[in-house]
Amino acid sequence: MAGDRVNLLGLPRLELEAFVAQRLGAKPFRARQLMKWIYRRGAADFSAMSDLAKDFRAALETVAKISVPKIVTEQISADGTRKWMLRMDEVQGIETVYIPEPGRGTLCISSQVGCAMDCSFCATAQQGFNRNLSVAEIVGQVWLAQRELNDTRGKERKITNVVFMGMGEPLANYRNVVPAMRILLDDLGYDLSRRRVTLSTSGLVPQIYKLAEECNVALAVSLHAPNDELRNELVPINRKHPIDELLKACWHYLEKQNGRSVTFEYVMLDGVNDRPDHAKQLGRLLRGRPAKLNLIPFNTFAGTAYRRSPAAAIVRFRDILNELGVIATIRKTRGDDIDAACGQLAGRVTDRTLVRLGSRVMNPSERSAAVR
Ligand code: SAH
Repeated sequence: MAGDRVNLLGLPRLELEAFVAQRLGAKPFRARQLMKWIYRRGAADFSAMSDLAKDFRAALETVAKISVPKIVTEQISADGTRKWMLRMDEVQGIETVYIPEPGRGTLCISSQVGCAMDCSFCATAQQGFNRNLSVAEIVGQVWLAQRELNDTRGKERKITNVVFMGMGEPLANYRNVVPAMRILLDDLGYDLSRRRVTLSTSGLVPQIYKLAEECNVALAVSLHAPNDELRNELVPINRKHPIDELLKACWHYLEKQNGRSVTFEYVMLDGVNDRPDHAKQLGRLLRGRPAKLNLIPFNTFAGTAYRRSPAAAIVRFRDILNELGVIATIRKTRGDDIDAACGQLAGRVTDRTLVRLGSRVMNPSERSAAVR
């Protein structure tokens, strides 16, 4: 029965080797061939795998499948940013965003349906938490984008970077995010260098320590405030893991993983966290540390009372930090005309079927707030 077949998408190399050995009596190199087909060539069909023996392919059909997420909608921004809403199963939709830039292309992927962190300025928070994505659903976003972008993995790869900055808190789905990252890094998988895969977290301190032992990727941390009082309000997880603890975990991560620096994200909220005094406090916190600050102009969504800081305030904020010796840059807003910018991903339901299907994702009052 089809339902019993194992989805090979998202199986880490060792598990795939064990699977072909146990279920098909095949040698480990078969697993490596399969990985190349699935990730490099984007195959979803065993019959296309021309260098595998016919009876091996037939045997595979009976015990395995490659199931990939389905696209519900695609939107393309005036600046070339593309956003896909993907159907994960009968009820759930998530969003994946591709951001092309000269010389590189970044894919921003989701790790959960919704999010439980409840950051006050984030659209995803409004829909609440629904569930974790599986390894296949996380890796499937890369598989799908590669196909849609017609990225043939030649010299001019279209997806050069992957960032866990879509919907969800990746460290709250540690169990599935780490194997997914392994496939992104594996040379038979997406073969991305560890500096080109970035995990962004709101600050789950115990998981940062755990990650330091297990996986080597670039770390980004959503800081958003220079003191605990303000951060408690903006990023509620701070009440559990205050700034001091969070920074210690970051420096530990760098030391363990031989990393160069941590990127701290800081959303610029008018009159909330954008005063010169806040910049000075931040400067004191990060001066002399292996840290980069990424200032993100707030992206608005329906139902929020926050406003974006004026451009002049953002520039002044950056200049104060630079004068204090902290590297700070302003993130260019991309794809905001299609609600694909930071913090705007809400798995918006636009497809008629999904309006119905989406009804279990959010209750009606939450939905009217999240649907812009
Ligand atoms: N949960 C993870 C991954 C999300 S990354 C994290 O918190 O890091 C998305 C980034 O966009 C985070 O830094 C997040 O704080 C920021 N963000 C959220 N809402 C935003 C908004 N409305 N405007 C700009 N940035 C926002």
